[in-house]
Amino acid sequence: MKKFRCGDVVPGCTRAFHGTEADVLTQVAGHARADHGLPDVPAELVGRVLAAMVDA
Ligand SMILES: [Zn+2]
Repeated sequence: MKKFRCGDVVPGCTRAFHGTEADVLTQVAGHARADHGLPDVPAELVGRVLAAMVDA
């Protein structure tokens, strides 16, 4: 299981996500679309999300 805090990539955001790496990426994509106005998560951002994920 992994944990990702959106605030590690988007300063000020307090959302956090838990699950498998794929689960977290799916949740982050939905959150980015709904709350950050990003219809698509660019590969560069996926890389930053993966880099910021920690074991949970
Ligand atoms: Zn966020």
